[in-house]
This record gives sequence, structure tokens and C-alpha cells, in this order.
Amino acid sequence: LNQLCNRTNLLYRIRQMSSTTREFLANRPTYAQDVSKLQPFIDLAVDWQASHGVVLRAPQLSGADAPWLKAALTPAPVALAPSPIPRTEFERVVQLQPILNQLFHRIANDHEFLVSTLESLGSADEFTARVFKMYLDQRELNVEKPAVIGVHRSDYLIDAPAAEPASVPRAKQVEFNTIAASFASLSSLVGDLHRFLLARTGYEGLIESGSIEPSQLPTNESLTSIADGIAAGFSLYGNSGAVVVMVVQPNERNVYDQRWVETGLWEKHHIKTIRLSFAEVLEKCTLDENNRLFINGEEIAVAYYRSGYAPTDFPTEQEWQGRWLIEKSRTVSVPNLAYHLAGCKKIQQVLAQPGVVERFIDDLGTADLVRECFVGLYPLDETKDGQDAVQTAKSNPDKYVVKPQREGGGYNTYGGDIPPLLEKLSAEELRGYILMELIKAPGFKSVLLRDGALFASEVVSELGIYGIWVSDASGSVVVNKHGGHLLRTKSSDVYEGGVAAGFAVIDSPLLV
Ligand code: ADP
Ligand code: MG
Ligand code: MG
Repeated sequence: LNQLCNRTNLLYRIRQMSSTTREFLANRPTYAQDVSKLQPFIDLAVDWQASHGVVLRAPQLSGADAPWLKAALTPAPVALAPSPIPRTEFERVVQLQPILNQLFHRIANDHEFLVSTLESLGSADEFTARVFKMYLDQRELNVEKPAVIGVHRSDYLIDAPAAEPASVPRAKQVEFNTIAASFASLSSLVGDLHRFLLARTGYEGLIESGSIEPSQLPTNESLTSIADGIAAGFSLYGNSGAVVVMVVQPNERNVYDQRWVETGLWEKHHIKTIRLSFAEVLEKCTLDENNRLFINGEEIAVAYYRSGYAPTDFPTEQEWQGRWLIEKSRTVSVPNLAYHLAGCKKIQQVLAQPGVVERFIDDLGTADLVRECFVGLYPLDETKDGQDAVQTAKSNPDKYVVKPQREGGGYNTYGGDIPPLLEKLSAEELRGYILMELIKAPGFKSVLLRDGALFASEVVSELGIYGIWVSDASGSVVVNKHGGHLLRTKSSDVYEGGVAAGFAVIDSPLLV
């Protein structure tokens, strides 16, 4: 009874504190949409970006293989000014993050749950099946790892339908990323860029109505949180002279976001980072008789993956073997195989079923806080729920998104494309997908800066909260915290939102 009371009280208190959708929408400033009058902002912003490393490698010109391309940089696409997010929702998901870190740690350590959930995917998804097999092989070997390091990002859209002005805006979870969550460094710096532009220009000419106060721009520790987390895990490894390997994609453009992590490790913690692809890991690293992994005589304490989440990261057996070399060694991989699997969209869907969060979180009030950010998630398999979901999605496709077990953006199916997809896929293939209710975030008229030009656009923002977890071999928690945030903003007429995939810009939140 006590628990039930707490549970109702908590949610009630949150609702009391929140402003309504009407208030949130009305309290937002408005930004001028005539970009011809905003040209002076371009030099200020682009030059600030260049001098603070908010840059990407220039896109590879097709067919060109010139060395200068490595040195050709371009400013990262950014929003010119911050985008509104309800303050109470922002604070709520920040506070939720340690609970989610703990939840996913428990999921990753529940072997039975992982097996039954991932087996329900069937054989259609070769990639997930391969990662799962590696997880089973590793278990068989009883590999000892001195630490677990989690670098997560929980992503949200704000559900605040203009048609329901009396409703309370709600942050709803899009997904929980456990592997290669990117843009932590650039995101923190874009917050600084917006603070700079506000202080220098007052955003004069851009703000048409309302205002922006510096106190509405939250500080963001995501520039340092990942390096600090890796360093905490590194020290559990027990060799201060060891190195970190960052496993990267060979043609990565988002190099500087990664270099900032490397800089943090070096300047604050005196830890050296070596960048390698999975193929290079196989080529250059060796295992000694004590299961320790070395590169050129230096022991590798941590392998931080910024690759390995997509089938394209494993074009040949070499890359798979490179990953296996790390996984079977004493080196702490970030994420470990169980964490990688726990981040699958199938896990997210099963978690939303009645009683499943409660399997991992005893306190009902806390479980409710987690559930509060879920929207409807359904299987598309041959169970009764799955068959019902297929029918619902076919008759109401505009309310849903269909997702395969993929990461990195660009794989989902929306609206009118859903029924033909459901028709085309075999029952076996459908087991590899999930159905998710569409979150309709409110549009906002913003100005984006991409390739040196400004674009006025109605946009939608996706908020990501980083989570940092470190525990030792005995399971004792060393770090469990939120690690700053990311705001990505995209035109509201496109569904998908990846910056790397070319859909979105990096932004920062304006707390309203
Ligand atoms: P990925 O792992 O590829 O990033 P996501 O689940 O994040 O997959 O989906 C990619 C993008 O699709 C998101 O960034 C978001 O813009 C959009 N999206 C995903 N799920 C939803 C949803 N339920 N409602 C609205 N948009 C969504
Ligand atoms: Mg993802
Ligand atoms: Mg995503």
C-alpha cells in the first residue's frame, strides 16, 4: 500500500509542477525567418566553430582519393539559436538517467531475459544473431573483465500536441543507445556557441518576439563526461601505463567529436588513445598467455567502440575477428556484448510490456517513472499481440513507425510506406521488426546553418541524455550518472533525425 501511495504521489507531483502545452507553446520566443537579414551571424558562427573544433571532415568527393581530403574540414551543421524544450521535462529525464543506466545494467546481466528476448527475433536478422552468438561464445569462455563501462544515450521527443492545449508536455523515449552514442563533444560546444552568440549579439534581428535569458541555457558536461567515465573504468583495469583503443570506422567524418574524447583522456587523465578500425585491431593487436591484449608492446585496457553497430562495419570476416579478439581478451570493451544487445529495439519493445520493467526495478514508483516516458511498442510476430499490431498498423499507418534492429539512422518505415512493407515481409522476417507509436513533437520556426548558408525551417528537436556507468568486476557501482545532453534538430517535414545521416543539425536546448 505504501508503495502504491508513493507511486501515485510522485506522478501527481510531477504533473502539478508542469506547465500546460498551451503555456509551453506560448512562452517560446519566435525567430525571424527572413535569412537575408541574418547574414552577419554566419561569419560569427562559422569562425567560432572553426576556432573551437565544431567541425567535421569534408564529405569525400566521389572517386577522389587525394590526401588533402583528410585535411579538408567543414563546420558541423548547427542551429543558429537554441530550440525550446519544457524545463520540467528536461529536468525529469536528466534525473531519470541513473535509473535507466541501472535498468540497462540489470537487463544486460539477466542472461535468461536476453536469451528469450533475442531468440524471439528468429533467424531473420543475421547481424543481431552474430553479435548474440559472440556473446554466447564469450560466456562459454568465461572471460574475466575487470570493469563494465557504459556510455549510453537515451533519446526523447516532446509530446505536446497543439490540438490539446490543456495537456502537459511529456518527454517520450525514442530509443536507448548503448553503442557508439555520438555528438557528446560537439553538442556541449554548440551550447557554448549559442551562449557566445547571445552574449555578443543579443540575437538582435533574430528574436522577433519574446526573449532568451542566459539562465535558460543549461550547462552541459557532455564534453568531458565520456572521457571521465572511460578513465574511471580504465583505473579499474589496474595498469596505469596501458592505453585506450578507440575503434572507429575507416571513413569517419565525425572525427573531431571523437578527438575531443581523446583530448579529455590525454589532458585530464594522461591516458593515450590509439585509433584503430576493427580490421586494424586484427592486424596489429596480439594476445599474450594471460589474455592481455597489446598493440606495439602497449597493453590495451579499454576498447571504446565508435564503430560496430551496423552490418556495414563488418564488410569481411576480418572485422568480426578483430572484434572477437577484443571480446575474448581482458580488455574492457565499451560497450560489452551484453550491453550492445540490451540496446536492441526488440529489448525496448519487450520492456514496454506489462510487468517487464518491474522484473528489473522493485520499487513501483520508480518503475512508473520509467514507464511514464514509454509510448506504445508492439511486436510484429505471429503471437496474438503481433497479429493485432500488424492489423492496427495497416489500418492506421500514420500513427506508427516500423523499426528493424538497426542503429545509425535511416532504417525506419513511416506512414504510407508501412502497409506495403508489412505485405512484403515474410512472417519470419517480421519477427525482426517492431512497431512503435509515432511521437508528434511540436514544430518550431528556427534558422539552421549548414555549409555556410542559413535556412529558415519549421523544425522538430530530439533531446538525448547521456548516461555514464562504471562498475567493477564484483558488480560494485563506481559511477552512475547522467553525462550531459544533446539536442538534434531537423526539418519537421522529414521523419528521421540523424546528424551523421545528413538529416539533422546540432542544437542546444532553451529551457521554457
Ligand atoms: P536509430 O537507432 O537508427 O537512430 P531511432 O529509433 O532513433 O533509430 O529512429 C531514427 C529517427 O526516427 C529518430 O531520430 C526520430 O527522428 C525518428 N523516430 C524514431 N522513432 C520515432 C517515434 N516513435 N516517433 C517519431 N519519430 C521517431
Ligand atoms: Mg540508435
Ligand atoms: Mg536514434
